[in-house]
Amino acid sequence: MKAVVNQEICIGCTLCVQACPGVFRMEGDKAVAYVEPVPEVSSDLCRSAASQCPVTAITIIE
Ligand code: SF4
Repeated sequence: MKAVVNQEICIGCTLCVQACPGVFRMEGDKAVAYVEPVPEVSSDLCRSAASQCPVTAITIIE
């Protein structure tokens, strides 16, 4: 699977970075998914981060 952050929508709240630092990091005032594919060990946290994003900016692609 991979995670994609829509840069147009992200408000830079850092929640996903805190929830799953193995996949997301801040670049400037936006979050990005910096590993692809998402490591198996991080998949649950990654899904959780995506579901918690307040503006639904994270898309999970299986
Ligand atoms: S949780 Fe959503 S809005 Fe917040 S930094 Fe991550 S992608 Fe951006």
